[in-house]
Amino acid sequence: MAKPAAGSRIILENKLMKLYRKLRDIEISRQFLGGNLIEYYLRVTMTSIIKKYFVKMQYPYHSIASVNIETTGYCNRKCYFCFFHDRFPKRKQGIMEETTYKNIIDELSKINFCGRLSPHSYGEPLLDKRLPALMEYTKKKLPNCYTQIMTNGDFLTAQLFKQLIAKGVDHFIITNYDDEEKAFLTFISEHCPWHVRVRSYKDFITVDRAGKILNRKSQLHEPCLRPSSQLVINWKGDVILCCNDFYGEYVMGNVNDGNLLDIWNSAKFDYYRNNLIKGQRSSIPICHHCDIEGGIPW
Ligand code: SF4
Ligand code: SF4
Repeated sequence: MAKPAAGSRIILENKLMKLYRKLRDIEISRQFLGGNLIEYYLRVTMTSIIKKYFVKMQYPYHSIASVNIETTGYCNRKCYFCFFHDRFPKRKQGIMEETTYKNIIDELSKINFCGRLSPHSYGEPLLDKRLPALMEYTKKKLPNCYTQIMTNGDFLTAQLFKQLIAKGVDHFIITNYDDEEKAFLTFISEHCPWHVRVRSYKDFITVDRAGKILNRKSQLHEPCLRPSSQLVINWKGDVILCCNDFYGEYVMGNVNDGNLLDIWNSAKFDYYRNNLIKGQRSSIPICHHCDIEGGIPW
């Protein structure tokens, strides 16, 4: 009979330890970033609530849980497990017009979007010098969204990092694509742990990108909820089926020619969603060999 009590105590101790680590990370980050103490703690509390109760809740079918907007179509690297590698055909390069980006944000503000928003898809976001201004606009119009930047970190400096946080970026995921550790990435993760996660490219499982990268020829039959819950817009303004569509072969509409929410709610988009919700991946060529299980992406 003593065991359940011991178990509860261990659970409680683990929870307290987790809370302690969170508070410690927040305080270390606050000291690094500087600024007003009360404002900082209010912001952190708000973003924690958004992340816990809005972004991560299971959105019902057809709600936008996350948005990827590719502000630049360029990347400075050519990783072997990426479409930017020389072995793959080149796609047209360019950057998104500022008015296009702002139109997207304005449209999302009409539904008071409060999910996760990232200013990238395949392109490296820190190549875009407009990023601080774009993120400022985003947070002004969408104060309840959770903004996250995934980057290779090659162009990140402490100054740019602080500037982006001040302009409204909530979190960074930095992937080290080299084999050796980098002093700056260690520094930034130690000094601002609440806002950064640093990982190595070896830490995550490389996805096959619809069977095109590793040629695994997977054939899953699970439903895929990505097109039902994630909005992906490439640098040209094309709303594409999902993040695997590097070449923009499955375009649901272009935000420069039509209304974003009309595109999201279109019959064309629904056609793909309905097939994928039933697990009928083989009916769509890009999905046929996709190895992504297809839950709601965070
Ligand atoms: S850094 Fe990222 S986007 Fe660039 S080539 Fe590597 S995997 Fe692709
Ligand atoms: S099955 Fe794969 S390729 Fe098709 S929509 Fe889902 S994630 Fe994209």
